[in-house]
Order: sequence, then C-alpha cells, then structure tokens
Amino acid sequence: TKWVYTFGDGKAEGKADMKNLLGGKGANLAEMSNLGLPVPPGFTITTEVCTYYYAHGETYPAELKGDVEKALAQVGELTGKSFGDAANPLLVSVRSGARASMPGMMDTVLNLGLNDETVDAVAKLAGDRRFAYDSYRRFITMYSDVVMGVAHHHYEEILEHYKVEKGYILDTELSADDWAFLITKYKAKYQAELGKPFPQDPHEQLWGAIGAVFGSWMNNRAITYRRLHAIPESWGTAVNVQSMVFGNMGETSATGVAFTRNPSTGENALYGEFLVNAQGEDVVAGIRTPQDLTERARIHAGSTKPSMEAALPEAFKAFERISHILENHYRDMQDMEFTVEKGKLWMLQTRSGKRTGKAALRIAVELANEGLITEEEAVGRVEPGSLDQLLHPAIDPKAERTVLTTGLPASPGAASGAIVFSADEAEAWKDKGRKVILVRAETSPEDINGMHAAEGILTSRGGMTSHAAVVARGMGKPCVSGAGALRIDYAAQTMTVSGETFKKGDLITIDGGTGQVLKGEVPMQQPELSGEFATLMGWADKVRRLKVRANAETPADARMARSFGAEGIGLCRTEHMFFDAGRILAVREMILADDEAGRRAALAKLLPMQRDDFVELFEIMKGLPVTIRLLDPPLHEFLPHTEAETLEVAKSLGVDVERIERRNKELHEMNPMLGFRGCRIAIAFPEIAEMQARAIFEAAVIAAKTTGETVVPEIMVPLIATKAELDIVGAVIRKAAAAVEEETGAKLTFQVGTMIELPRAALQADKIAESAEFFSFGTNDLTQTTFGVSRDDAGTFLGTYVQKGIVETDPFVSIDVDGVGQLVKLGAERGRATRPNLKLGICGEHGGDPASVKFCDSIGLDYVSCSPFRVPIARLAAAQAAL
Ligand code: PEP
Ligand code: MG
Repeated sequence: TKWVYTFGDGKAEGKADMKNLLGGKGANLAEMSNLGLPVPPGFTITTEVCTYYYAHGETYPAELKGDVEKALAQVGELTGKSFGDAANPLLVSVRSGARASMPGMMDTVLNLGLNDETVDAVAKLAGDRRFAYDSYRRFITMYSDVVMGVAHHHYEEILEHYKVEKGYILDTELSADDWAFLITKYKAKYQAELGKPFPQDPHEQLWGAIGAVFGSWMNNRAITYRRLHAIPESWGTAVNVQSMVFGNMGETSATGVAFTRNPSTGENALYGEFLVNAQGEDVVAGIRTPQDLTERARIHAGSTKPSMEAALPEAFKAFERISHILENHYRDMQDMEFTVEKGKLWMLQTRSGKRTGKAALRIAVELANEGLITEEEAVGRVEPGSLDQLLHPAIDPKAERTVLTTGLPASPGAASGAIVFSADEAEAWKDKGRKVILVRAETSPEDINGMHAAEGILTSRGGMTSHAAVVARGMGKPCVSGAGALRIDYAAQTMTVSGETFKKGDLITIDGGTGQVLKGEVPMQQPELSGEFATLMGWADKVRRLKVRANAETPADARMARSFGAEGIGLCRTEHMFFDAGRILAVREMILADDEAGRRAALAKLLPMQRDDFVELFEIMKGLPVTIRLLDPPLHEFLPHTEAETLEVAKSLGVDVERIERRNKELHEMNPMLGFRGCRIAIAFPEIAEMQARAIFEAAVIAAKTTGETVVPEIMVPLIATKAELDIVGAVIRKAAAAVEEETGAKLTFQVGTMIELPRAALQADKIAESAEFFSFGTNDLTQTTFGVSRDDAGTFLGTYVQKGIVETDPFVSIDVDGVGQLVKLGAERGRATRPNLKLGICGEHGGDPASVKFCDSIGLDYVSCSPFRVPIARLAAAQAAL
C-alpha cells in the first residue's frame, strides 16, 4: 500500500480527485503542484493510515516510518535543506486535512524542526536572530498546546509577566535576547507541566505532531462536528507535512487569505486581506488589522494602510495570475491562502469558497455566462433554500443586534414595529399609519386580519406548522413562532423576555430567517431581484420535470404566486375567505342556525361573496389549474371566544348571548384536530359543500367568458379516511354542477379529487382512486397523524427530539422519508395502479422544502404546491432533483 504522497516543484503523486485518500487540503496541494504553481514541497500521509491506526490499537503500518523518511529526504532535496540538520535545517508545518472540511478539529503546528541548535542556524540563514527566536517560542507554545494539551495561557502568563517587568507594551518591543530568555522559561514550564523536557529531536517532534493529528480525529470536538454534519467516522483524516515558508521575515514578507470573487456580493473581483511580516495565525488571531489586497478595495474602504498591490507589486501580480488559473481550473470561486517570503509568493491552500446566497446566485450565472460552466451546472450551484434570503427584507449584516430570545424561524424575512397584543389593535394601529408586530401566545383564524395588518408575527407557542407559521408563510410575512421564553400578559398588555418588560407600542424587530427576536428597530436591507435571479430561474425551468403550484387564496397572494412563477394553485383554503370582515357574520349565522333552513339562509348570503372570490382567482390564474378545497377547520374556530366579542356578535346578529355560548359549548372538542372537521363537516351539513361547489361552478362559467380560457376547477375534499366519504361529498358536488349547467346552459369541465392526509387514506388509495381524479397529499396532517404528534403543540418538545438526534430534522419542515414519505409513496403507487392518469401533488408545507421536493420528484408526483414566496425555491429544488 502507498501510504505517503509527495508534492512540490511542479509535480505531485496525487491529484484533486483523490480527496478520499488525501483529504481536501492534500488533494488540492497536489493539484496546485501539478499545475506548476509555487507550492512549498511536502507530503501527505493518507487517510488510510488513520483507518489503520484505529484498526490496529493506535499503531502505524510497519512501512510508514521508512516512507516518511524517504518523503522528508525528497522535500529536503527540493528545498536544499535537511530535516534536523544543524547547519541548514528544514522546518515543516503539520496540518490535518479530512475529506470534508472540519474547521477547528485540530490546529496547525508551525515551525516544527526548531530546537536549541537549529534555531541558531535559522538565525544565521535568515540573517535575523530575532525572527528565529520568535519562531522558536511560537513553536514551543503551539506544540505544547496542540500536541501535548498544555494550553496557551500558561505561556501567555509568563510573557505578560515579563513584559510588565520590562515595561514593554507590545510584543514587537521584545528583542532576540528577550525571546531567548523567555524560551528558557517556556521550556521550564513545559517540563513542569509534563514531567519531561521539551523534545529536541526533530523526528520525535514530527511523530508527536503526526500522532496528535490522528488522535484528534477521535477528540470530542471532532466527534461532535462529525455527528452534526453527518461525516462518517470511517473517513479518517490525512496529515499534511509541508516545508515552512515564512511570512514573518521582514517587510517584504507577508501572509494572507483571498477569494477569487467577493464571497458576500459575488462581484468578480479579487477579495481578501493580508498582513506584512506576519505568520498565518496572526491573520486569524485578529490582533493586527489586516490590509486590503487591491488598491481598488483599499480606496473603497478608505484605508490608509497600503494594499498588497502597492506594497508588494510583484508578488501581487503573481497572485492575481494564479487566482485566475485556479478559478479557471476548478471552475468555481476559490478560497486561497498564501505566504510571501522575501518577495516570493507561495500558495498554501485552495478550495471552493463559502458564499452567501446572493453571491452564489451571481457567481453561478456569471460563470455560466463566461462559459466556464454550463447552465445546468449553474442551476446545481445555488442552494435553493438560500433564495429565501433574496426574496425578503433582511437585517443589515452590519447592524448591531440585541437579541432578546430566539424562537423558531417560522417564516423568513425581517420586520420591525411596535408591539401589539391583539389582531384588532394591529388593524387599528395600521390604519393610523403605524408599523406593528403582532405578539400572541398563538394565533387562530380569527387573527387573520391582524396578521395582514402586521409587519410580522411573534408567538410564544406553536411549531413550524402552527397556524401562525403556516399563515405567515402564505402571506410572505416574517414570523417567529414558539419563542418559549416570552411571557405575554394580555391583561397588563406587556411582554417579558430576558428580564425586560416591554409595553404595547415598544419597538422590536423579528428575524424570521433565524428566529431571533431583537430589541428596538434594526436597519434592514431590501431584496433585490436582479437579472441573475430571473436568468437562473429560467435555466432551472428548462430542466425540471416537477410542476410547481402555490397555496393561495387571496388575490394578492395569487398574483404574487404568478409573479414568482407558480403554474397554478395547488391549494386554496376556502376557510381563509370566511374570515373577511364582510362575511364572518354570515358564517357565524350559519353556524348558530338550529336547522338546515337556517343554515341555507345564511349560506345564501355567502354564495355571491364566495363566487366573486373564485372569479377573481380564476381570472388571475388565466386558465392555469386551480385546486379549491372545501371547508376544513372545526366550526368553533369561527365563533367568538371572548366575552366582549360574544356580546358584539350577539348584538349584530340579534341573538342571545346564551345562544352563542351554548353553541360554543356544543362545538367544544377535546381534540379539535381529530374532531369535527374536514369532510366530516360536509357529510353532516352537505348544504355547506353544496354552496361552495355552486360558487365554484358559477365562477368558472363567468371566468371562462371574461378570460376566454377554459377554466377547469379542481374541487378537493379534505381529510377523508374512506372512499365512502369521498363518494358522498362527490355526489353533492356533481349535483351542484348539474344544477349550474342546467341554469346557465354552459358545459362544465371539472375534477373532483381528495386530500390524502390520513394514514388510512394512503393505505386505501387504490379504492379511493376509483372515485378521485386527483390526490393532493396533505403532509401537514399526514405528519401529525402518522407521528401522533399535534402540529400545534409540537414546538414544546420537537426541538429536544432534534437535539437528541431522535429525528434528524423537524418532520413538519422536511418530510420524514422513512415514515410519512413511505405513506405518500405507497398512496401514489396504489392510486396510480387503479387510475394510471391520476394527478398527484403535495400541498403540505413540505412542498417548499428542497429535500422534500427532491423526494416528491423521486416518487413521480406531478407537482408540489407551496406558499408563494417559496415557489422559486421549489422551482430550483425541482430542477436540481432532475439534474
Ligand atoms: C395539510 O394537512 O398538509 C394541508 C395542506 O392542509 P392544512 O394545512 O390546511 O391542514
Ligand atoms: Mg390538512
């Protein structure tokens, strides 16, 4: 087995696609060498050695010692130095490097090979005694810390003490002799802490460092990181040993980091920082302020410190050229580390750079336009979820934040406003021109108007599919839900959080992308839907198979959905239309009625309003499919619940307060989500379904005339468990259709289908498909009923479940492939077995979640439907699923 791979001097034994064996860093160092770029010679000990090490009681393969010696000798030849040589010593760095980047797993050991003897040789060769001793003391502290576990601060204390004694302020005031003196102190400290002297043998130092890197693979930090990022333990880490180059050899030496393009904006311009006369750790440590790379960046930042372009023009030109070579070679934006030693540039690392969503979009589109990647590759380069950042206002990254608490990131975007504690108040303040944040323990359908009026919604209870979360996402409004640390006192009109009490009218800001609740008004950035967004979405649409519809019921949402590219409405929740100011009274009248005649009288008032709603929706969607769902929620949700409200309703309707209270009691349920809702309402009160179906058909006739398009409504029955339920409600719908046809003389085309949102319905899908022309999987309820976890109460414990790894992600956010997903798959298969052309979609919140979209594509659904703001995310996710 080959355990060691060398690189340097324009060639290498490895290459970029050997990441599994050499780790990311090692593979890219080899690749850069092969490209003829200036890489300090070195070698990589493979990840297989790591695997061997743990499989054989923490020992190395027998050949390894010899292989490392050979590689060291080769590095010596290339550098003209020799490891451990008293006159011309080779110094090396030792770094870990796993297949996936694991920041912070193990730090680096620099300047390895220094001892009491070689330090003087280095001093002579560099012509700089202070540099040599400074390097030696850095090595002792790093080695102690990283290899032996003796923390830095032990040495810092000695240094601080010495500086005080000498009256020094800055490290730069220390002379070579000062460092030499401190080194004796450091070594004594080492001996005192570890009971043995600091190793003088460079080979002992090297094997110590190699062992520490392999050992670090199993330290707690690494184990935790792997668990969080699903990195298998079996991968192991590689060890990179590389000859040292020094950025701290005076004013013509430097060290820096750079990106080939701006990682936050995506602008195609070299972006980075460097420090003159410094070693790598100094840049990261943040003690000195780094300087800009380019003159342009320096001028832009208004800095007086010279740029690298001005200070080290030769090295800068070389670096600029190399960054182009690397970007063209890797065909992606690169994140690079470099060192300049006495004017000569050396490359220490390159890898694909991390970037913001905005930058990802711009870089992908520009790389494709430059011909470096294909359009399809560009589609694959942007994380669908990151589009969220682009479609909503966001908190200015430079803004100061005082975080009061963090809840669930229920609906993205950020908003500031005065806090109010009721929906009515939200409306009233909005009418006065104030911006408000509606703060509630939880919201219910009665709060819809207030939610519309508010800039954002904050709740102390409820999960990712709680009412507040679902409705806010539908409206494209920021929402933080389940912020359990909030104490809301409705009576006092206050909210208490992190020991501070806020009154009605006090300003807060919520960030629905992170779940943060912030004090005061925080500066925002408005979304910029630049040309690149449209370009990339166009490319995505060319490759995807899955259609994307929107969940929408208001004209505003429907228009928004169209503008985001929705190909129809997958779910119109008609109950949301029942809460409008003009109609809630008639809805209540219907619920309070004692008999069918009374209900019919109230429904007659609702009919024209519903019809107008549907006409408008059909007109906006211009012939695109529109799925309208019959009334779904428990009826008591429509009744007033406070005394004052009850009084008001009683007055408006001319009924007794007692009557409302009695009806409220009758409708009260222990478990409303499993109660009198869904198709059960249509079965008990068919006249409600009849009115809704009639409104839909009459609207279809009107809209067909006004738009000149064929309007094919899809009428959807919610929450069925049996075919018999669908048959009963379906008959009501068909009867209404026949009546409208007869009255208008028009010929209607329509489909009757059902939601599949109960496990039994999925299991019975073959039977149900005999009566259904389409299925729409309601994965919110299906998740609730499959897990037996209430979607409104899950917030209190699901977080713990995710933390403990019981579930990987919140199953209300990303579909539980192994459980709920299997029911969807089975339902789809059984349904299609009966009716091969059965149209299949999903309209739960999962329709806008990239991982769930991928799953829906894999099981052959026809479309996903999600809230309007997530339509672009779903389009991109669907495209990536098809790549
Ligand atoms: C569902 O249950 O997934 C669904 C879309 O319906 P609702 O969220 O309205 O219950
Ligand atoms: Mg449902």
